[in-house]
Amino acid sequence: MFDRIEAGDHEQVVFCQDRSTGLRAVIAVHSTVLGPALGGTRFYPYASEEAAVTDVLRLSEGMTYKSAVAGLDLGGGKAVILGDPSTDKSEGLMRAYARFVDALGGRYVTAEDVGTTQADMDLIRRETTHVTGVSRALGGSGDPSAATAYGVFWAMRAVLFLSSGTSSLAGQHVVVSGVGKVGTNLVRHLVEERAHVTVADVDPAAVDRVRHDFDVATVRAAEAHHVQCDIFSPCALGAVLDRSTIPALRCWAVVGAANNQLADPGCADLLAEAGLLYAPDFVVNAGGVINIAEELGPKGYHRERAYAAVRRIYDTTLAVFDAAKQEGVPTAEAAQRIARRRMDTVAHVHQLRTFT
Ligand code: NAD
Repeated sequence: MFDRIEAGDHEQVVFCQDRSTGLRAVIAVHSTVLGPALGGTRFYPYASEEAAVTDVLRLSEGMTYKSAVAGLDLGGGKAVILGDPSTDKSEGLMRAYARFVDALGGRYVTAEDVGTTQADMDLIRRETTHVTGVSRALGGSGDPSAATAYGVFWAMRAVLFLSSGTSSLAGQHVVVSGVGKVGTNLVRHLVEERAHVTVADVDPAAVDRVRHDFDVATVRAAEAHHVQCDIFSPCALGAVLDRSTIPALRCWAVVGAANNQLADPGCADLLAEAGLLYAPDFVVNAGGVINIAEELGPKGYHRERAYAAVRRIYDTTLAVFDAAKQEGVPTAEAAQRIARRRMDTVAHVHQLRTFT
């Protein structure tokens, strides 16, 4: 275990159990260099403990880069609760979990993720203040999906500006693969901007909902990446860009919300070689965490201020493409370098001492 933690340079990994509620959870604090390690709690029926640990280590590291490149004073963390949320979740289990979050004294701040909801965050709030994304009634920012979609939309505008000098998506053809919480909100922005939108989802009910609300075309989920379009937007699962899907893409840019879109780091080179503009997922989908960060600020949550901060993803995306060009590396690598440089700078600044 220590070899694995050291390999990713994680600061702390905490295993939590409570027999009476059946809680089994792992909290990973990857980095607190920039601030409290923020990241969601995933409640998932992992095939093995090994799979759960792998997931929490990978996701917590990703959160470090996401917050760092977004310019937030937040570190990276993540938690997983092992089990099936539809059968194993209970008030007792969530509150027991919250006690462990509280015991970390603010080093880890939790939020919603796959398998957890805003209602769960409200429950956690009863045991600890180190939770975000609680309901508006409790002074929180609520579900982050709308802010995430808004950020993806602004990243698309930036990528379009890079290729054509205009950032209006009117007339552009965008394929949105996955129309859940984020995808549906993204479709709304695109339709309002008069883009042509094609949607895909493995869930026919999700496609029906979007078709009912918006004037969009549809395609089978397995064929979404084959569609001739301007921008392909993966908004479902990770690892969608691999050695078989990349050559099949018929777009000039990939800008989507899904986490960990590249099946392996080499896929970034494949995209670049194919002449595709790839906006790194952790840059593009930071809207949710930017929105949540507002909740932790001294003034509390303010939607207009939060959304203004989310719009800055436009500038961050431009900066990432610029750095990639200057340094001759794929955009994903350029974004990681920006994140690491910022962490090094802030770590140094924090060594400057003051005396009273
Ligand atoms: P969601 O579960 O609400 O929606 C995902 C949708 O994708 C569902 O409708 C599902 O049926 C569909 N789907 C699953 N497999 C598919 C496939 N193979 N092809 C097409 N569609 C498929 O999730 P969400 O909150 O909208 O998040 C979407 C993605 O964005 C996830 O990868 C998530 O990790 C990432 N993300 C979300 C947020 C957020 O604020 N919700 C923030 C950052 C990143």
